[in-house]
Amino acid sequence: MEVSSVKKLEQLEFSLESVTDLSSSSASSSSPAVATFSCVDGVTELRFLQSDSTHCFNFDLASAQLFKLGPVHFICVSDSSGSSEEKSFSQGVNIKFKNDKDSKDFCESFQEWRKDAVVQGSSLQNGTVSANKSKFDNKIEASSAKMYFHYYGQLLHQQNMLQDYVRTGTYYAAVMENRSDFAGRVVVDVGAGSGILSMFAAQAGAKHVYAVEASEMAEYARKLIAGNPLFAERITVIKGKVEDIELPEKADILISEPMGTLLVNERMLESYVIARDRFMSPKGKMFPTVGRIHMAPFSDEFLFIEMANKAMFWQQQNYYGVDLTPLYGSAHQGYFSQPVVDAFDPRLLVASPMFHIIDFTQMKEEDFYEIDIPLKFTASMCTRVHGLACWFDVLFDGSTVQRWLTTAPGAPTTHWYQIRCVLSQPIYVMAGQEITGRLHLIAHSAQSYTIDLTLSAKMWGPGASQGGILQSSTCKFDLKEPYYRMSQPQAYPVAQELPLQPQPELNTQDIQTPNEELEEELLQQPPQNPSAQL
Ligand code: SAH
Repeated sequence: MEVSSVKKLEQLEFSLESVTDLSSSSASSSSPAVATFSCVDGVTELRFLQSDSTHCFNFDLASAQLFKLGPVHFICVSDSSGSSEEKSFSQGVNIKFKNDKDSKDFCESFQEWRKDAVVQGSSLQNGTVSANKSKFDNKIEASSAKMYFHYYGQLLHQQNMLQDYVRTGTYYAAVMENRSDFAGRVVVDVGAGSGILSMFAAQAGAKHVYAVEASEMAEYARKLIAGNPLFAERITVIKGKVEDIELPEKADILISEPMGTLLVNERMLESYVIARDRFMSPKGKMFPTVGRIHMAPFSDEFLFIEMANKAMFWQQQNYYGVDLTPLYGSAHQGYFSQPVVDAFDPRLLVASPMFHIIDFTQMKEEDFYEIDIPLKFTASMCTRVHGLACWFDVLFDGSTVQRWLTTAPGAPTTHWYQIRCVLSQPIYVMAGQEITGRLHLIAHSAQSYTIDLTLSAKMWGPGASQGGILQSSTCKFDLKEPYYRMSQPQAYPVAQELPLQPQPELNTQDIQTPNEELEEELLQQPPQNPSAQL
């Protein structure tokens, strides 16, 4: 999309108590200064000029951020100078205002002018800007993105994913069983990592594969692909974010592995649908095509006690002479805000699971910002419900075979395991009783979600007809801060009268359905009643 080349000159000035360079090690003199917002030829800038010196700091508002340190004390940082200097560099300044009013007015102006900068996008050297340019940077904290791509830039983490044979093997099978979707086609590998999926696509006969990878892993992918001459000439590695890069042609099919814990963690599904809108031809395919978040209430006394016990440390009144109890409440709350990640026994589920469909071919990027799922289950036993267990599966809707990759409890374990949101106040249910609630996921700028979970159970027995909900339990979780529990011994006593049953209904991995039945299939699954095995 072209941006209009000439913009009228606009300007807004603030006088400041002082501005000092954050990077200067010396306590540089704090001299009065002027801050100027300006917009010239489409570039929205914030300039700080010290009045008693020639020091001038320029910030491109599209990438600048303001942090409040005190009522009149702020820092302003930016990834690049945004000025006409030759080099871009990270920079920051310490700002002090004369009074509260000035600081408040400045903050409001900063937000307003920044909004303009973001809407306009930044001008590239060739004068064009794409609609999605900087979309990633605008919504994701720079520090989070830096850590994220640093993580994926390391071979050990790519190896971890490659060694999840359930994951990688299912992708391989899905591609090879659906060769006709790849043979002679243009493919985009969204977040190519080591390039493994690109090479699967090339093996299936792709005409050309564009392997897009934002992290340093792109260099390793180049090396790996170059070492596989059978595919090398049909794969182009492009280092950059799918939000930013350009491709010379449209793709017939996208392949990607954008799933995180609870499907949506890492917020990479947003990049997947942005890639769809930017690179896929209208009749193109997506591998995977849809995802489903599955949920069921569980009962796990061991886990609950384990979590409650962690906070007990803070119950000590004489820890080397110090009373720790003032922090007990916060510690308890902290532990119960961590979703638990491990592989659990599906017999811990106390109701048939339900699921929420996410259709990657239809979802808009914004649809991922907030995901609201009403919950309704029927308890299959009389028990204490400790929270909600969640897992996901994705479907490769191939022209020849529909293949599911599942992370369900009881199915072969993947590196995603399952997740459980444990309530600090369990609820009591009777067999046949209805459990209702809500799972509300709100995206945050650290590439993850805040989870609000409520589970409620209506009164049972005499008085139930009066209708009121008697028990309701609510907890907030940060999906970015999970409690990885996999290394713990799994001490679930197996009751003799309940031998472990194979649970085909939870293992959707190899289910193959004819195309026309797909929709029906999605809506019906899981039609089974796992409670029979509970
Ligand atoms: N496709 C590989 C790697 C999957 S992990 C495999 O299946 O083994 C996801 C990869 O996507 C990571 O390497 C990450 O760096 C990359 N990625 C995430 N968001 C991206 C984005 N917006 N643009 C380009 N690459 C991205």
